[in-house]
Amino acid sequence: MAKIWALALHGGAGPIFGRDYSPEEAHIRGLLRDGADRLAAGEAALDVVEAMVMELEASGLYVAGRGASPNTAGHWELDAAIMDGRTRRAGAVGALQGFESPVQAARAVMERTPNVMLVGQGAAHLAAAAGLARVTDPASYYGAVDEDTVQEDVPPPGANMGTVGAVALDHYGDLAAATSTGGVLSKTPGRIGDTPIIGAGTWADERCAVSCTGLGEYFIRANAAADVSARIRYGNQPFGASVQGALDDVKRLGGNGGMIAVSAAGELAWGFNSSGLKRGLADSRGRFDVATFL
Ligand code: ASP
Repeated sequence: MAKIWALALHGGAGPIFGRDYSPEEAHIRGLLRDGADRLAAGEAALDVVEAMVMELEASGLYVAGRGASPNTAGHWELDAAIMDGRTRRAGAVGALQGFESPVQAARAVMERTPNVMLVGQGAAHLAAAAGLARVTDPASYYGAVDEDTVQEDVPPPGANMGTVGAVALDHYGDLAAATSTGGVLSKTPGRIGDTPIIGAGTWADERCAVSCTGLGEYFIRANAAADVSARIRYGNQPFGASVQGALDDVKRLGGNGGMIAVSAAGELAWGFNSSGLKRGLADSRGRFDVATFL
């Protein structure tokens, strides 16, 4: 069997027209090169998507990890999920405070517990037990709120859509997805969006791997990420049409955002019905694209 691989990354679906995203695009390009090399060398999709999302979190360039913004109570509560398509094992954290990498904490939930999701203090307790890097001084660790990232033309006001994500297919035919976010700007304490909800913002199975970004409440109501797989499985829809159909359903409910996806055959697909989607796509056939708008 030919050793194919494919990788897609995203840095959120809320770019502002006219703003220069060359720093984000340069960052995504470098990461995509690194992830492509790892997959070409035979690294597992699950490890590559975790590594990619950790780098996106640590960069401070997106509204996830270091770039997250505080909730209305002044606390940084972060969400993340990771899913292994072959086994359908999954891990997620919601409203996690005090740790640098929510996706690492999500992986710890998957690897170290019989659970799929831990939130709040329970998630923090597990992250501490796993020895994950802490944020001891949030006010200096996290970046200042970048008002340019606020997309003002869509409800609810203050949505930022700077979530990060990665999906991959590896040499072994396995698919994986990971997503991490600081949520929407000025969110209510305790609010959890689609990102850590398996099936809503993050999904991987034997057909596809999907990572979403956008107004999370709509992606939850559309069960958007898993809907891509359902359209293939039950509707016999082509992969690209499944991605578009899932996004159309989000739009029909009144939401907007975007998603990246990879199929078991190594096809890559992305879409958005917002202003744009910071993204990078690479595969073993030589594709290597980085873009923000259409
Ligand atoms: N989907 C995320 C949330 O609702 C926000 C984003 O994509 O930036 O928490």
